[in-house]
Amino acid sequence: MKRIVIILCLWLLQNVWAQPPKVLVVNAHPDDESGCAATIYKITHELGGVVDLVVITNGEAGYKYSLLAENIYKQPLTREAIGRKYLPRIRKKELRAGCNWVGIRDIIHFNQLDTHYTLDADTVLTAVWDVENIRKKLIKRIQKEQYDYLFCLLPTEETHGHHKAATILALETVQMLPQNRPIVLGVSVSGKEDTLIKTFKGLEKYTITSLRKNPTSSFQVDRTTSFGYKNRLNYQIVVNWLIAEHKSQGTMQTYMNQGDFENFWYFDLNTPERKKKTADFFDKLSRATLVK
Ligand SMILES: [Zn+2]
Repeated sequence: MKRIVIILCLWLLQNVWAQPPKVLVVNAHPDDESGCAATIYKITHELGGVVDLVVITNGEAGYKYSLLAENIYKQPLTREAIGRKYLPRIRKKELRAGCNWVGIRDIIHFNQLDTHYTLDADTVLTAVWDVENIRKKLIKRIQKEQYDYLFCLLPTEETHGHHKAATILALETVQMLPQNRPIVLGVSVSGKEDTLIKTFKGLEKYTITSLRKNPTSSFQVDRTTSFGYKNRLNYQIVVNWLIAEHKSQGTMQTYMNQGDFENFWYFDLNTPERKKKTADFFDKLSRATLVK
C-alpha cells in the first residue's frame, strides 16, 4: 500500500503538480526562432509553458533579401541606406506577428548592430556588439524569470558568425550564474536523411561550446508528426505560419516545409545529472498533443 502511495505521489509530482516549463530563446536575428518554432508551439500550446525570446540585432543586414517586400512596405528597402533605416521597425513587427502564432510571450530586443554576413564570431564579440551590456541584461532576465531551459542555435563552423556569437554569449552568461542555471540546448534543423550535423563537437576556439561529452545526445521534436482529421495536419504547418510573417526576408519562404526534425544538443556546460530531466522533458513533449 505504502509503495502504491509513493508511486502515485511521484506520478502526481511529474504530471499534475509539476510547474509548466519556462524557456528563454536567445538568437542573433529576427527569424532565427523558426529553427525551433514547432517545439515552441508544443511547449506553449500542449504543455502550458512559457517561452520568451531575446533577439540581439534587428536584422537590418537582411535588406538584400527585401525586394518582394518593397511593394508591401512602399519603400526601396534593397537600397542599403533605406533598408538599414526601415528594416529594424519592420522586422520587429514581422517578428511579433510570427511569434504570436507559436505563443511566444515576451520579445526582448537588445538592438545591437546587424553589420553583414560573416563566419567570424571574434570580430562580432570584440568590435561590433556591446557584449558587457548583453551579458548584464541576459543575467538580469534569467535571474528574474528562472527559466528551465535556454535555447540557442547550434554554433557549427559554417553557421553565421552572429549565430555563433549569440550562442557563445548565452553559454558564457549561464556559466557566470552562481545558481539556478537554465539547461542550455543548441538548436539545429535536419531532414530525415541528414547525418552531417552529427559530426559537430564544438568550436575549437570556444571550448564553452563543447559537445564532446555529449556527441550523440540530441533530443528531437518531429515536425512531421501527424494529427487531426485523417491525420492530415502536422507541425510544419505552424512553422510555415511563422515563416510567412517574415515577408521582408524573401529567402525565408524557400525554407518552408524543409526540415523534419528540430534537434536539441546538450552542451557539456550542463551537468550530466540534468540530462535525465531533459530527456523526460522531451519525452513528455513528444507524448503531448493538442487534444484537450
Ligand atoms: Zn540568423
